[in-house]
Amino acid sequence: MNRNQWKTRLKKGFCKLKDVLTGKTQITNRLKFHTLIGSIASVHVFLLVIFCVFQIMPLFYFNIFSVLTYTACFGMIWSERENYLTIYIITYIEVILHSFAATICLGWSFGFAQYIIAIVPVGFYICYTLDIRRRKFTVATVSAVFSAAAFLACKFLSFFGAPLIETDNIALELSLYVFNSLCAFAFLIVFSLVFVFEMKLSSSQLKHQNAILNKLASTDPLTGLYNRRSMDIFLNQAVESASSFALIMCDIDNFKKVNDTYGHDFGDVVLKGVAGIAVAQTRGHGYVCRWGGEEILILINNASEESALYIAENIRRNVANRVFELNDKWIHCSLTLGIALYDGKEPVEETITRADYNLYCGKRNGKNAVVF
Ligand code: GH3
Ligand code: MG
Ligand code: MG
Repeated sequence: MNRNQWKTRLKKGFCKLKDVLTGKTQITNRLKFHTLIGSIASVHVFLLVIFCVFQIMPLFYFNIFSVLTYTACFGMIWSERENYLTIYIITYIEVILHSFAATICLGWSFGFAQYIIAIVPVGFYICYTLDIRRRKFTVATVSAVFSAAAFLACKFLSFFGAPLIETDNIALELSLYVFNSLCAFAFLIVFSLVFVFEMKLSSSQLKHQNAILNKLASTDPLTGLYNRRSMDIFLNQAVESASSFALIMCDIDNFKKVNDTYGHDFGDVVLKGVAGIAVAQTRGHGYVCRWGGEEILILINNASEESALYIAENIRRNVANRVFELNDKWIHCSLTLGIALYDGKEPVEETITRADYNLYCGKRNGKNAVVF
């Protein structure tokens, strides 16, 4: 790989990390295991050098075995066999064995037993986020209980017996204790942070999906208008708020003829165009809903006779002036609208019926009209 390729790879890596930290991207199992195996392997490489320099040969050989084990784990990740549970179990056993061996060899005061504690929450996090349906809690819980037993066993063995390798190097003892403590804390902090980011990401995804579902449940897919279910809610709210409101029932004139002459697709274009005009003219004053077929019901909040008439007339005029086009064909259409004011006493169904009746009168008297 040349310098430029390394640079692009590094840049890509940073972008990915940024996306993960800002909650823009999902943390994949691959990335999780790369982090886990990569960080544990780095610790072992460092210890390998230390044990070699200070001639602690049993642990030096153990660390060669550990580094080879993690290289094999990397191989498993790269082969994309997705055998993550096995990788976790191998890692777990290695960490426990290594901590155990290092404590027995050097003594409790070198702090190797801390890794046994640090692996517990990591295990829960890793197992919980794996795509295995069963056993994930069992694996994490059993390994946690086993960790507790291993930790105490380490303590008792080092308490009652002397270390297998006697070192009087206090500086090495203290340095390794600090190194081991820092690494154990780093594991806990990094995996807790990743867990929090993952929770944040899934909660924002859930919110986004909820918003989409809400939109699907409350609107009509063709026109984007509210559906009847939403309008029922708005009508109930308007009645409960005891404010005056008007209902405008609209119906496209001779729509069957549009469909029959120009096709259903053209009819859809007209319907969407009329819906757009109704929304634009009602914006900020109330709600527009597709009541059925090509009927649109508009609720105008805090309406007077004049304001409802004004809005309805604007809608009618805009529809009449609009040219609807599809595939080089174009037509004019018209709309008839019936208005009714809610009187504060009658059931709202009654107001709808009155608006419908006025619409019917408009149709009978020649269409393209607003009737109060
Ligand atoms: P009028 O002037 O009396 O209203 O006559 P009209 O032909 O418009 O009659 P009506 O209002 O009963 O027409 C309803 C038609 O609307 C029937 C149906 O084919 C059409 N329609 C209903 N929903 C849709 C739709 O989603 N797309 C299309 N293209 N047409 C629809
Ligand atoms: Mg019609
Ligand atoms: Mg109709």
